[in-house]
Amino acid sequence: MTVWLEVSLTVDGELAEAVADVLARFAPNGVTTEQGVKFLHDEDEGTPSGPITVRAYLEMDERIEETRHKLEEALFYLGSIRPLPAPRYRQVADQNWMEAWKERYRPIPIGHRLMIVPVWLDLPDPLRIPIKIDPGMAFGTGTHPTTQLCLELIEGWFDQPEVIKRKSKTVIDIGCGSGILSIAALELGAQAALGVDIDIESVRNARENAAHNGIGAEFVIGQGSVEEVLAGKFPLRQAPLVVSNILAPVLVRLLEAGLTDLTEPGGTVILSGILLGQERSVIEAAQARGLEMNAQKQMGDWVALSFVR
Ligand code: SAH
Repeated sequence: MTVWLEVSLTVDGELAEAVADVLARFAPNGVTTEQGVKFLHDEDEGTPSGPITVRAYLEMDERIEETRHKLEEALFYLGSIRPLPAPRYRQVADQNWMEAWKERYRPIPIGHRLMIVPVWLDLPDPLRIPIKIDPGMAFGTGTHPTTQLCLELIEGWFDQPEVIKRKSKTVIDIGCGSGILSIAALELGAQAALGVDIDIESVRNARENAAHNGIGAEFVIGQGSVEEVLAGKFPLRQAPLVVSNILAPVLVRLLEAGLTDLTEPGGTVILSGILLGQERSVIEAAQARGLEMNAQKQMGDWVALSFVR
């Protein structure tokens, strides 16, 4: 096993490039940068903002002290032009440092019955249903409150006596991302699911995640949104359960585009991704299109709503 020495500095945007250049001279695998995000307006999915953390990984071989000395010297010269913070060091023991970030992922229990499990881990709780997710580029790793709220409401839907009795349980998932919501619904007892997303990467990632869970043809995944489903482009056009976890202004637009019509009369619509304070706009748009609210859940700054058609 190779042991790596992680060196990191947190600097402002102007200095990040120069620091990355210096670190790259000593790190055979290149450097990584990480920056926080700010939400500038309602539909902003996150704009990079604030200080940047630059990280590099040095091989812990017999020359590590010398490498570290040279690195600090190079940083000292850069620091004489613009003040720099001292570098931080941490040992990372892993065959592959690129996998080191995976250490941070832990299984996440959701509701009473579900457990989101990164694909590379085994299910630690035999009493829960595992939802295996490979956190790729698509949104929906299960770590976000909006996903968790949505999953809790989905689980609650399956627990209702009238739903348990139903023969046909299907779900339409608008903005499926990683596919996590549909996969959970199928694991909870749905016979079929349709997931659509405007982002082609998500369609790909959802297919992979379906396979990780042993799910096949019962989960149809395609590129599109409410309009395409309404137009009959996919095998499912209406379902007793419709879910969508996108931002409030997008949900309002989807309601205007006919989201309600995807729901069977008497069926349920679960909407999540709503920032606290923006729920009124979604509730009003939903009520104007024949939906009646029957549940509201909140986690931190996020709200999820459930409606009946
Ligand atoms: N369903 C997942 C992902 C939610 S993120 C979860 O609950 O975790 C929202 C997803 O909606 C993104 O993948 C994004 O590409 C998609 N999206 C955004 N606008 C959309 C629209 N108008 N129609 C369909 N999908 C949309």
